Amino acid sequence: MTMRIPLSAPDVTEDEIQAVSEVLRTPHLSLGPKLEEFEEALENYIGVSNAVAVSSGTSALHLSIRALGIVEGDEVIVPSFAFIAVANAVRYERAIPVFADIEPKTLNLDSRSIEDRITYRTKAIIVVHTFGCPADLDAILDIARRHRLQVIEDCCEAIGAEFRGKRVGTFGDVGVFGFYPNKQITTGEGGVVVTDNTAIANSIWRLRNQGRDYSKGWFQHSEVGYNYRLSEINCALGVGQLKRIGQILKRREEIAQIYERHLSGNRHLRLPVLLAPLRKISWFVYAVCLDEQFDEFQRDWIVEEMGRRGIGTGRYFAPIHLQPIYKRQPLSQLCPVTEAIASRTIALPFFNRIEEKEIEEVCEKFTDLVESSTRFCARHQTA
Ligand SMILES: *Cc1c(COP(=O)(O)O)cnc(C)c1O
Repeated sequence: MTMRIPLSAPDVTEDEIQAVSEVLRTPHLSLGPKLEEFEEALENYIGVSNAVAVSSGTSALHLSIRALGIVEGDEVIVPSFAFIAVANAVRYERAIPVFADIEPKTLNLDSRSIEDRITYRTKAIIVVHTFGCPADLDAILDIARRHRLQVIEDCCEAIGAEFRGKRVGTFGDVGVFGFYPNKQITTGEGGVVVTDNTAIANSIWRLRNQGRDYSKGWFQHSEVGYNYRLSEINCALGVGQLKRIGQILKRREEIAQIYERHLSGNRHLRLPVLLAPLRKISWFVYAVCLDEQFDEFQRDWIVEEMGRRGIGTGRYFAPIHLQPIYKRQPLSQLCPVTEAIASRTIALPFFNRIEEKEIEEVCEKFTDLVESSTRFCARHQTA
């Protein structure tokens, strides 16, 4: 269903459309100059020595798992409150995703929960910077150092976010970004792995193109790789988008502030933090949490009623450990904070070109529905 005010919408300029069409007039549609230009621009922006662009954020996660040498039976700690790709990418290599809980303020991995999950089989942690707010990298890197674990930073929702003045993606062994149309910048489909480790970068570089090893002659294959290449068409769009990222992130921060202004008086809502210590947030979505007296049933009713009024909202995220394919988890892996928050969270329309009067309309309809849902539930309980 298309919404009058969608949950998200890409922002592509005429110049970017022009740049994409120009690629189509050249003989280079894949593995050409735009790929190199996009990768170099990403290296400069993120502040890292190697960027290897790939076909999606999920393939970036998968190749990171492969390049870090994670194999069948190894355990990788991941948040359950996240996009399902973080668990799927681990499973592609027959390793085991172990779900850790989050802390309620920033919705990022709780370092105590990470420590609880560590066993002699744990090899790595996938740290997601949820909704663009950097996780507690001090605590997580300290755990990783003490237990000799590798760290994959999933920055798919957080390009441009900073921790202690440094961009995310530069803290872990590798950083992973995605460029699906709902992200801060898009290439249609696309992703990138960044790392300062040249051996890891070379491994990912080979794996994205069938494991081909150029240094040993044209068709020399020493491992089984994939076709995870990103076309020149996508890269041309990415180059254009990355040029505007400063403006884009500024606009998104303004939108978050406007939402905050309109919703902060509502006692039923827990709003995202606008400022977190040591951090610069890169706004991905504006997700609010209903307070403890609400349940999933009321949240879902609000989502449906917003949809009827032409406004797209999202149930971000459904806990991964409750998904049918991941359900058989031992009781020791329960994630109570994730479950409580996921059942009451609702993401509101959030995109660069949303207008202030649209935000006002969203907030008005949303607060009305929140109010009605309290009455409607009270009626059910007394009936
Ligand atoms: C978007 C996203 C990804 C990657 O998604 P793709 O659709 O494969 O590009 C990975 N992890 C998180 C947390 C995401 O939000």
